[in-house]
Amino acid sequence: MKYEVVIGLEVHVELLTECKLFCSCPNRFASEPNVNTCPVCLGFPGAMPQMNRESLQQALTASVALNCEVALYSYFDRKNYFYPDMPKGYQISQYYIPLGSKGFLEIEDDQGSLKKVGIGRVHMEEDAGKLVHEAGGEAAARSSMVDYNRAGVPLIEIVTEPDLRSSEEARRYLEKLKSIMQYAGVSDCKMEEGSLRCDANVSLRIPGDQAFGIKTELKNMNSFRAVEKSLDHEIKRQVEILNSGEKVATQTLRWDEDKQETIVMRVKLEADDYRCFADPELAPIELTAEEVEQALQNLPEMAEERAHRFVEEYGLPEYDAGVLTASRCMADYFESCLTLYNKPKEVSNWVMGEFSAHLKNAGLEADQAFFRPEDMAELLKMIDEQVISGKIAKKVLDKAFESGKKPRQVVEEEGLLQISDQSELEAIVDQVIAENPDTVESYRGGKSKALGHMVGQVMKATRGKANPQLVNELLVKKIDG
Ligand SMILES: [Zn+2]
Repeated sequence: MKYEVVIGLEVHVELLTECKLFCSCPNRFASEPNVNTCPVCLGFPGAMPQMNRESLQQALTASVALNCEVALYSYFDRKNYFYPDMPKGYQISQYYIPLGSKGFLEIEDDQGSLKKVGIGRVHMEEDAGKLVHEAGGEAAARSSMVDYNRAGVPLIEIVTEPDLRSSEEARRYLEKLKSIMQYAGVSDCKMEEGSLRCDANVSLRIPGDQAFGIKTELKNMNSFRAVEKSLDHEIKRQVEILNSGEKVATQTLRWDEDKQETIVMRVKLEADDYRCFADPELAPIELTAEEVEQALQNLPEMAEERAHRFVEEYGLPEYDAGVLTASRCMADYFESCLTLYNKPKEVSNWVMGEFSAHLKNAGLEADQAFFRPEDMAELLKMIDEQVISGKIAKKVLDKAFESGKKPRQVVEEEGLLQISDQSELEAIVDQVIAENPDTVESYRGGKSKALGHMVGQVMKATRGKANPQLVNELLVKKIDG
């Protein structure tokens, strides 16, 4: 392609706090509509907002985790516009002085080397409410409802420099950002619940050009996959426009997940004018250098450090450590299992393999799974105690995920106990020997593989429940006499 792609991302992240930003209403997802509200977040005249320190602490943690310079003095501005989800007629945000600036995070670029993506600003603001269009009843077709539970929830907006050069880089940036926010304990970053939202600016230019091309803005991308696809779609669209000698129009486009294409929302004639000014009701945000330093010192272990420690402390292969630390809750899950069953490689195999596959199927994160670390430990102990075989253990895990029952209960109810009773197995072994004279011969003739075949026959006859080691011993003893 003869053009260079220039992408910048604006990401809104909801902070994990007990309370909303300027009132003591709970910051909670999926409550009944409008229950988490009060005069402050409903924008009643005369209600006095007051910033809670918890939100500031989280925003500060996010800023230092993203290597930002932190403003010791900043304040909130009013960004004035009208929309029904914003009852005050303005949003409280940080327009003139962001809390964090000049930060960066590192990703792999398209050539596989490490690249710094500049973060221009990290600022605090309040979230808006939510319009509900699919309200039931007769009026549904001609009305919308509004839920103010989200109004006033603390957000940070994280704005990159125009440093990203492809849709893949954009996706990698988002994955890294999500990991950092989760490890820092700042946000759960659940895109499907709206706690991470992303807008993108895209333009093209001839490589070597200093000036940027005309950019368009993309909105409404609700998964990392959607971000990547809509960027690809938009890049292709702009290439076609430029190749035909036309000019790209300054537009805001919306990604339509069903149609898999971008749709024009509005054409921008000039910059939006929000008449921003400092909010006269809120005290300025003041921090000391010591508080910033403390936040830096208190940063929890991030993904790379943790992966490194998994290799050093548990002797795991780097691959395992990378997979397990890809999300914080997975890494936490793994380490919780270890406190109950201290065989790192075994736990790693099961967590990365069967457990992850089930999570993926169910669309769950590790911390949402009913199958808790104690269940995993229980399952692995049963293999060690030869109560079940490894093969049966997979079946037990399937059933446990399906039914929500404990592993030991599944084993008992499904009759999956391993057969370690010699006399019971002997009868089956005898039968297999009698039915396979040729295989017995070739084993005697030195083909050790033949034994495996017969073990398989016994396992099949017992539907996988025979103790394979015992079967092996019995076969050898009987054939070799
Ligand atoms: Zn409130």
